[in-house]
Amino acid sequence: MQTAIAKPRPKIDNVNRGFWDNARAQKFSVQKCAACADVHFPGSPVCPRCLSENQSWVEISGRGTLLSWARFHRAYWVSFRADLPYLVCLVGLEEGPLLVSNLVGVESEDIIIGADVDAVFEKVDDELTLPKFRISG
Ligand SMILES: [Zn+2]
Repeated sequence: MQTAIAKPRPKIDNVNRGFWDNARAQKFSVQKCAACADVHFPGSPVCPRCLSENQSWVEISGRGTLLSWARFHRAYWVSFRADLPYLVCLVGLEEGPLLVSNLVGVESEDIIIGADVDAVFEKVDDELTLPKFRISG
């Protein structure tokens, strides 16, 4: 009998815990600085713009623009082999930050750079929900 190998999990710490708590509640959030109103992702112990430590995770639209994408045919982690091929995307959020995620629910031949995308949430288990993106509409 073969033992299943778990996928790597995000390391949840005091900086990013708000993001993962919100994701579990199906809310997409970015870190916002109370001092200068900068919004950024990923989270940082201090604001990358003004170095304030006074920050919080705020829910945003989860909408963005597809800036780039790639179709992965090789499993860099053995635990992802069953998912091949899968799509990885670069999203420019409406609120400004960029992030890398998975693009789901679409075939490669239907993908257009610049398409509107929005966040969807994939529950892994009771502790972890992963935000991913789909083409809007
Ligand atoms: Zn700031």
